[in-house]
Amino acid sequence: MRAPYISVVIPVYNEAENLEPLFTRLTAVLDKLAKPYEIIFTNDGSRDNSIGLLHEFYRRRPREVRVIDFNGNFGQHMAIMAAFERVRGEVVITLDADLQNPPEEIPKLLAAIDAGHDVVGSYRKDRQDNWFHKYASRMLNLIRERTARIRMRDQGCMLRAYRRHIVDTIAASGETSTFIPALAVRYAANPAEVEVEHAARAAGTSKYRLYDLIRLNFDLMTGFSVVPLQLFTFFGMLVSVGSLLFVGFLFIRRLIVGPEAEGVFTLFAILYFLVGVGIFGLGVIGEYVGRIYQEVRRRPRFIIREVIEQTDSVKNKTADLANTLNG
Ligand code: UDP
Ligand code: MG
Repeated sequence: MRAPYISVVIPVYNEAENLEPLFTRLTAVLDKLAKPYEIIFTNDGSRDNSIGLLHEFYRRRPREVRVIDFNGNFGQHMAIMAAFERVRGEVVITLDADLQNPPEEIPKLLAAIDAGHDVVGSYRKDRQDNWFHKYASRMLNLIRERTARIRMRDQGCMLRAYRRHIVDTIAASGETSTFIPALAVRYAANPAEVEVEHAARAAGTSKYRLYDLIRLNFDLMTGFSVVPLQLFTFFGMLVSVGSLLFVGFLFIRRLIVGPEAEGVFTLFAILYFLVGVGIFGLGVIGEYVGRIYQEVRRRPRFIIREVIEQTDSVKNKTADLANTLNG
């Protein structure tokens, strides 16, 4: 079998309605490129018929299609990570399954890779999301750029291309909660970004709720920088200096004016505020401690039930094993 030049990686979580049109459009684009390619789908514990459809794609194009079937829901980034561990292509492209990233834009990314860039990101031309999504992500972009110093115009756009060595480094990083585009930008020597079309989700609903978005951004901030911790140290220093001055002021006042009990509520207000900041700081430390805990437990990042792919090389032992296990 010829080694593929392009590996397309697609995480799938309850995307049954989108898979057929996605597969048709994607293979049309890739066939036109006339370069050997593979498409790796990771089924991230879908509860609809996604896995049935992926089996069907494999039956149709066994040479190009590979399917990784997870044992449960491990998240979009782990789904991509599992595929990254197995890619065979020189150039790796990630794509969402919901057709928000048109596959027709892939040649644009490949052109940028050919021009010598090792990581090619993309930003959406007219973002077809609701205003909340749009503004929340704009704000988070700003915070991320300031703290983690990762420059990405559009972190939510997963249509991206990577040179193989970048993908190998990402896969070898072994992190459990991570954000793949950010890692890639970290490892890139010569990143670029191109403008792509963006459509509304073809069918189904976004898998990310507000809580997930907040979690994701905590991961981004704490996974890529210690600035939040440093900010707290800094704030603590400021408060200490301020308090010291205040104590001095009260002491002198006591000598001049004598005892007084006014301003209790002002003091309470200040106290509450500081207690609030303190609890928040504890939470930030908790974020880091939690991540350390996750890493030291060394649990598997994801569990693969089965890999469905053509087994004609030594590399594909997993599939053999899976087949034997399934009788
Ligand atoms: N996805 C996944 N596991 C998850 C959530 C999402 O594999 O737990 C996949 C999903 O099927 C899609 C991509 O990740 O292909 C992006 O998800 P979604 O479109 O819901 O995110 P959004 O576009 O709203 O950011
Ligand atoms: Mg989407």
